[in-house]
Amino acid sequence: MSTDYDVIIVGAGPSGSAAAYSLAKNGHQVLILERGKEPGSKNVYGGRIYPYSLSKLIPDFADDAPIERNVTKESIMFMTENSSFQTNFSSDHSVNHGFTAFRSKFDSWFAQKAVEAGAELFPEIKVDDVVFDENNSIIGIKSGDDEITSKLVIAADGATSIITKKAGLRNQFNSEHFSVGIKEVIELPSNVINDRFCISENNGAALVCVGFPTNYLRGGAFIYTNKSSISIGLVVKGTDLVNSKTQVSSLLNNFKNHPDISCIVNGGKVAEYSAHLVPEAGFNMLPKLFGNGILVCGDAAGMLLNNGYTFRGVDLAISSGIAAAETFISAKNKNDFSSSSLSNYEKLLHEHNVLTDIKKFKKGPKYMENQKLYSDYPKLICNIFESLYNIDGNSQKFIREIIRNSIKNNNISTLGLLLDSIKGANAL
Ligand SMILES: Cc1cc2nc3c(=O)[nH]c(=O)nc-3n(C[C@H](O)[C@H](O)[C@H](O)COP(=O)(O)OP(=O)(O)OC[C@H]3O[C@@H](n4cnc5c(N)ncnc54)[C@H](O)[C@@H]3O)c2cc1C
Repeated sequence: MSTDYDVIIVGAGPSGSAAAYSLAKNGHQVLILERGKEPGSKNVYGGRIYPYSLSKLIPDFADDAPIERNVTKESIMFMTENSSFQTNFSSDHSVNHGFTAFRSKFDSWFAQKAVEAGAELFPEIKVDDVVFDENNSIIGIKSGDDEITSKLVIAADGATSIITKKAGLRNQFNSEHFSVGIKEVIELPSNVINDRFCISENNGAALVCVGFPTNYLRGGAFIYTNKSSISIGLVVKGTDLVNSKTQVSSLLNNFKNHPDISCIVNGGKVAEYSAHLVPEAGFNMLPKLFGNGILVCGDAAGMLLNNGYTFRGVDLAISSGIAAAETFISAKNKNDFSSSSLSNYEKLLHEHNVLTDIKKFKKGPKYMENQKLYSDYPKLICNIFESLYNIDGNSQKFIREIIRNSIKNNNISTLGLLLDSIKGANAL
């Protein structure tokens, strides 16, 4: 059957543009439909991209990609209202620690690369549905009254994908699987950022904070440095916000007012505010990844890994887009776009280490649901260091006594702590 395009891609986020670029570069006819005014205009994330998958596609991407800073400094801060304990790691030869970027610029740049390779991009088009033929195979999409046909549809429409739903690849969303993310971009002069984070001009810092920032609800806060702004935000379990009747915006304000954070944001001007859902259940929320005439990529497939110390979404989205393009190419060689032909996608997702990692860390999301990680343990860590540096004239204690007392004073079970440590080491 002749079709309008080889492939229609719904969504010009990183997964959609990666698929479009790979396909167009190999001479296939590709249409990308994006509901936003421009690619990236509707997209929200924390701030850092791990580049390995992008460099597979565009090895010299750093020449013109809108990179803000290369992350050379990583910190984790455990916080209570009035204390904090922070780890710091610095390395200036760590290209794999990623770069910071604005999604509005990055997504536009990436989609433009796909267009230069030969893909057609129509922004401000919202896809409403998929079109089935009489054999129940998907043969295109519907936007308003318009139908466009293709050999394959790639659903790259993000965390709240309607395409996977319309294609019958997923059931109702489960609110337990989602967190709520909010973010502000705060403008500061670049020399002020360099001074406050102790970094040089093009180097960047990434900070993850746990405990007080979410008022001890499940989630955490992040800060990333851009050239002349910082991205600051929170990701909090949606059900925890609802159950505790907490406004995520007031959590962010409290976080910014904490003495350890106010000294970072002081004098800055809020330039942007955004919010988005984060699919965080990993392996447990994967939809069916392929059907007759359709593949699912990136967040639409729940391909996101948040281990607390790393937050991977964009890199996995790009890898899955590459795998989807490779799947199409082998299906086209056989002229077979049935579900069984497209099942090769799973194998390719393993080869690109997307499903490999999501499966490997499948215990992670369950482990990360443990409330103690966000309340008891940050408080315990701060309490231990509070005591360690407290010289009050009483006989000074050994570290083991301090730890034992802090565990007792915080009503923490030693066995529970031990088990959680072992489980954490196995899950993360
Ligand atoms: C608060 C927060 C912090 C994060 N931090 C990070 C981070 O620091 N690093 C990282 O790697 N990941 C991070 N992520 C995750 C990351 O943003 C996603 O994993 C990534 O954007 C997924 O890319 P995608 O292309 O699959 O989907 P998206 O980027 O969501 O793109 C989907 C695209 O589809 C379009 N679209 C949707 N529906 C339709 C439709 N019906 N018709 C047409 N177009 C449509 C949307 O407008 C959008 O452009 C974060 C996420 C959040 C919410």
